[in-house]
Amino acid sequence: MQFKNIIGQEAIKERLIRSVREKRIPHAQLFHGPEGTGKLAMALAYAQFISCTQRTETDSCGVCPSCIKYQKLAHPDLHFVFPVAGSSERSEDHLPTWRTRLMQSPYLSYNEWLSSIASENKQGIIGKTESEEIIRKLAFKTFESDYKILIMWLPEKMNSVAANKLLKILEEPWEFTVFLLVSNQPNFLLSTILSRTQALSFPPIAEQALSLALTTNLSIEKNRADELAKLAQGNYFQAIQGWQSSEENKLHFERFTQWMRLAYQKNVIELHRISEELAGAGREAQKQFLVYALKMIRQSFMLNQQQKELVYLPKEERTFVDRFAPFIKSTIVAPLYEELNKASYHIERNGNPKIIFLDTSLRIIQLLHS
Ligand SMILES: [Zn+2]
Repeated sequence: MQFKNIIGQEAIKERLIRSVREKRIPHAQLFHGPEGTGKLAMALAYAQFISCTQRTETDSCGVCPSCIKYQKLAHPDLHFVFPVAGSSERSEDHLPTWRTRLMQSPYLSYNEWLSSIASENKQGIIGKTESEEIIRKLAFKTFESDYKILIMWLPEKMNSVAANKLLKILEEPWEFTVFLLVSNQPNFLLSTILSRTQALSFPPIAEQALSLALTTNLSIEKNRADELAKLAQGNYFQAIQGWQSSEENKLHFERFTQWMRLAYQKNVIELHRISEELAGAGREAQKQFLVYALKMIRQSFMLNQQQKELVYLPKEERTFVDRFAPFIKSTIVAPLYEELNKASYHIERNGNPKIIFLDTSLRIIQLLHS
């Protein structure tokens, strides 16, 4: 994770960058603020920046051996503690899932996380075994960097035994060790822990930055993105949810998945029907649908190329893209783009939409089977 991929929060970025440049990195820091403001993503970018061997004035390089390990979340000097579904479990047990989820998107909500490790209405907890683990991990010298970094996500989920142990840990001076506590609800933390950390408060993400992220990451048209950003009140999760649950997106998603499935099955009769249906939708909706289709192809291609970190998608779409990605190879991605752009061009110029969509469908059949 690099700073450039963080949504907004410029003032915080600058402050963190300065702390590294001036070699005044506080040993225990608390990133706190509402959910969906990018605290965890920021902690990852900051940690990567601290350890980068070729950092620029404003960001980690993204290509040095340290950055490469960071991007896989597998640097030996980077440690994680996060809530798990029972006090007998440890973060360590869920590390592969944790890495996968964060590589899908460093903007991870608590509910999403719990649903990926636990069934039903379990509560997340950080138990006492975890604090013993921390001591064990940090007892080692650093392997490759100047600093060991421990990111504890949602310390408010610690039970009292774990919290008291963490307090003991924070009371001791640990050389070249940085603790980053990332909290949605710091008021649930022991005041003695709070007093031992340097707090950094995350405001809601600025509307403009949020809107820009929606247009870039989800290819949402600008006016709509502005509207969603306004409603989300600085919360990226809420903005995505707003979009995901909107009728137009649902419709695009259903149509697109159906379209691709039928093309894959070479079901020309049904493709006729779907072209007719699209033809009845109005030109603006047709163009929007093609923009949506381009987005899904682009996301699938990025995934095909293993650029997992770039794929930010809501859950349903993500599941589809996961399955669709193997088909979107580099050999067909450019011709696919071309077909969809051509369709858009002809619709713009008042071509017959039924013929345009049917032609495009037939080309897609060829491409998917080439
Ligand atoms: Zn680097």
